[in-house]
Amino acid sequence: MQELTHYINGAHVKGTSGRFADVYNPATGEIQATVPLANAAEMDQAVVFATAAQQSWASVNPQRRARVLMKFVDLLNRDMEKLAEALSHEHGKTIPDAKGDVIRGLEVVEYCIGAPQLLKGEYTDSAGPGIDMYSMRQSLGVTAGITPFNFPAMIPMWMFAPAIACGNAFILKPSERDPSVPLMLAELFEEAGLPKGILQVVNGDKEAVDAILHHDVIQSIGFVGSTPIAEYIYATGCAEGKRVQCFGGAKNHMIIMPDADMDQAADALLGAGYGAAGERCMAISVAVPVGDDTADRLMEKLIPRVEALKVGPYTAGSDVDYGPVVTAAAKANIERLVQTGIDQGAKLVVDGRNFNLQGYEDGFFVGAHLFDNVTKDMDIYKYEIFGPVLSTVRAQTYEEALGLAMDHEYGNGTAIFTRDGDTARDFANRVNVGMIGINVPIPVPLAYHTFGGWKKSVFGDLNQHGPDAFKFYTRTKTVTARWPSGLKEGGEFSIPIME
Ligand code: NAD
Repeated sequence: MQELTHYINGAHVKGTSGRFADVYNPATGEIQATVPLANAAEMDQAVVFATAAQQSWASVNPQRRARVLMKFVDLLNRDMEKLAEALSHEHGKTIPDAKGDVIRGLEVVEYCIGAPQLLKGEYTDSAGPGIDMYSMRQSLGVTAGITPFNFPAMIPMWMFAPAIACGNAFILKPSERDPSVPLMLAELFEEAGLPKGILQVVNGDKEAVDAILHHDVIQSIGFVGSTPIAEYIYATGCAEGKRVQCFGGAKNHMIIMPDADMDQAADALLGAGYGAAGERCMAISVAVPVGDDTADRLMEKLIPRVEALKVGPYTAGSDVDYGPVVTAAAKANIERLVQTGIDQGAKLVVDGRNFNLQGYEDGFFVGAHLFDNVTKDMDIYKYEIFGPVLSTVRAQTYEEALGLAMDHEYGNGTAIFTRDGDTARDFANRVNVGMIGINVPIPVPLAYHTFGGWKKSVFGDLNQHGPDAFKFYTRTKTVTARWPSGLKEGGEFSIPIME
């Protein structure tokens, strides 16, 4: 059995806390490795190395820092197959999906190569007589990030690429369920020329997270994961005086108008609802057809498609649409929620409950489920299931459909399928959700825009990647300078006003 490590100051370091977690191959249900769970002393050791390395990294000119990121991109491309294989092995997603996970992170690294431009400050010549004023963006120091299991490559890169491009040191606490790819990323970044101590990986659970939250040297915390943990980290981190941004759970609605192309809508729901076994924060988990006729036409197209989905291990290649869910506990939670859906009166039109894969009986596979006639009061509507379960809520009017998305406590993403520009525009303008798709079911913004939801899907005020990341990972300092030739004689006792 493999014993995974931390990655501290340029070396793989064994855990010393004596606590470990099991890492599974979700397709077989076998434990394939153990991961150490750090205590506060191990976290502190990483902070000491980060502190020692950070100042000199911050003083490297931004263009030279960007060159290290360029080389990192090359190495990510070189090792794409290896990274995808390791990712699928611990997470369960298919190889094309695992490559997508790496690529959407890599794209943020590419964006951050623009750091020299993005970090340029502002300058006002002659803000007053003989006075110039300028502002600059400076690094924060030692920063940290806590990431979820579902994108073990992409989300760490969304955080550490801008943090490091801005001159910070970064400590990553990845998910304990699939920690191998984050460790590989740290090694690759150093191979690209990153100094030791600038990117470290400290594995762990709540104890390691609490050590980050209460460490007085750590300046900022980025978190992505479920909403209850996001709320805890945001409240605790802010109370500790840190800069914190937390991204939480989701329940994304897709509205299907009567004029939508039903084949396109059904295909979109298939990929967005069941891709990655529904383990995406931008997955569509609620379909809202407008009008019973639309709902009936949609169901006619959707049911056979859902029934035909191929579920299996990533090793089966293109014969598989989605793989297992991440753990036995995740599978049990999905099955429990499906049962509440039945008990509370929803109609299970595609029943994945008895799904069984020969040779993989101990794997964490969940068959595809489709519910119709779901209502707002049901648990399967209120809670994030994070599995291959799509709920259909029939709305009678566009306003009712819009109201559903507006009233839900989550506000990460949403989509509308229609041919009518007025309706699409009205939807995009009025809905209180962060990311909107118009005939696009998973509207994940590209690296040079920002990513973030609204309502209980986010805590904090800056989004991930794009220009917001450069604001989050820097502090602004503004200098007002007057040279002796501009000085007046005598003291000034009232607040200075520029003339
Ligand atoms: P999770 O909240 O269980 O874990 C996320 C991180 O928090 C992990 O590193 C974990 O070790 C740590 N953690 C877990 N319990 C903790 C505790 N009690 N105290 C402190 N830290 C703790 O989330 P997950 O299951 O890994 O990921 C799935 C969730 O992430 C879903 O809710 C999904 O919607 C969400 N997600 C959101 C986004 C987004 O951008 N909004 C993106 C991806 C995933």
